[in-house]
Amino acid sequence: MREEYKPVIGLEVHAELSTKTKIFCNCSTKFGAKPNTQVCPICMAMPGTLPVLNEKVVEYAVKAGLATNCTISKDSKNDRKNYFYPDLPKSYQISQYDKPLCENGYVEIDTKNGKKKIRILRIHIEEDAGKLNHDDFGGGSLVDLNRAGVPLIEIVSEPDIASSEEAESYLKKLKSILEYIEVSDCKMQEGSYRADVNVSVHKIGEPFGTRTESKNMNSFRSITREIDYEIERQIDVLENGGVVKQQTLRWDDVSGKTFAMRGKEEADDYRYFPEPDLVAIKLSDEYIQNIKDNLPELPESRYERYINEYNMSQKDAEIIVASKYLSDLFEKTSGICGNRKAVSNWIISDISRILNEKELEPANIPFSANQLAKMITMIDDGKISTKIAKTVLEELFENPKDPEEIVNEKGLSQISDEGEIKKIVEEILQNNPQSVQDYKAGKDRALGFLVGQAMKQTKGKANPQMLNKLFKEAL
Ligand code: ADP
Ligand code: ZN
Ligand code: MG
Repeated sequence: MREEYKPVIGLEVHAELSTKTKIFCNCSTKFGAKPNTQVCPICMAMPGTLPVLNEKVVEYAVKAGLATNCTISKDSKNDRKNYFYPDLPKSYQISQYDKPLCENGYVEIDTKNGKKKIRILRIHIEEDAGKLNHDDFGGGSLVDLNRAGVPLIEIVSEPDIASSEEAESYLKKLKSILEYIEVSDCKMQEGSYRADVNVSVHKIGEPFGTRTESKNMNSFRSITREIDYEIERQIDVLENGGVVKQQTLRWDDVSGKTFAMRGKEEADDYRYFPEPDLVAIKLSDEYIQNIKDNLPELPESRYERYINEYNMSQKDAEIIVASKYLSDLFEKTSGICGNRKAVSNWIISDISRILNEKELEPANIPFSANQLAKMITMIDDGKISTKIAKTVLEELFENPKDPEEIVNEKGLSQISDEGEIKKIVEEILQNNPQSVQDYKAGKDRALGFLVGQAMKQTKGKANPQMLNKLFKEAL
């Protein structure tokens, strides 16, 4: 019976840290530069070069550990993980094996059945690999080492996640925490927040099943689809008397299926050993306490504040708080225009919709809090209607500038001149005798139709309150 199976999911999240320089050299970590322009002998692995650990990396990892309820190890070290791949110039990655910086934490998520803790086994620091660019030159592959040595934290969850929805909430929660403490920009399209997804199924009362793993997944949608697909596939295999093989899989977004890539490596295969070119990492109690004392406000606390102090609904608070950028935009804009309710409505409805349509991260919103506040004030002052504001908002996304300028340039300002509106009202009445009769016969709906016609004629620019008033007077 398929219903007897329970899914078991564990996630290994890689987040690129937003330090200015790489983990073992002074090269820039900035994304998007020309290939191999942010490299030096150290991150290109020239013989004889030596790594020097960037202190900021330790600080950021400790911050992440504290924000996820981990114990911070005062005694930690780096290890070499040996494997061959063309984007890994040293043929080993400096990572952490048996003494990670942070251990035994948790992140709390909301599920259908209430709150649930997803335990974090460990958070360790390591260096990112370079990138292979395929296809550009007649089927060959070119190596770009700009990313080699960019600092990462790897956050390994316990297999506590029971469904694709839980996996998504966990990933979103963790992402927002990392954004709030400003250790990673978590831009998924740029690969700075990505997950290895481990899935297995078992029957209750029986030991966990064998897991498969899909690496480096960087969209919530692919991750949830992959998990749902794998659960069904593995149940099929077991129900047909087969065994699930421990494998690394590749998820294909187009076909919506996973494909086997290779058998799974074991720790033995990596021949881990302590990195001889780096000293051990020793942290004092004061160092850790100081970072703890200076942690910024976490999403959980903003969430409570929005609900308790601002009377926001849980759902609205959740959407806004999920992204530090949106939450900051909300606070700044409200501070400027004073209309908190309007700001949250705009963020939850139109701004979120446009972000979705354009597949933009909130951090890439091109307009400022000032500009959004100005737009809302113009509505509040009756200078533009909500309908016109939607056009202004679209324009703010395309070509951000002072909303007043947008309104003037596009001739969008509201018609509030009584004489002008009267003319429009008369014209509409003349052209719609049937509706006039209907209204007089008691059909109130006819008024809405007439106002709609006037709006259409003025492309939404007529002041709706005035239209209503003048129509009623004329009728
Ligand atoms: P590796 O690097 O070999 O993948 P890690 O220990 O770093 O090993 O990560 C293993 C991940 O797999 C963890 O997130 C863990 O929660 C998850 N995991 C372990 N056992 C299972 C299982 N039976 N089913 C699903 N996930 C599992
Ligand atoms: Zn370098
Ligand atoms: Mg793994």
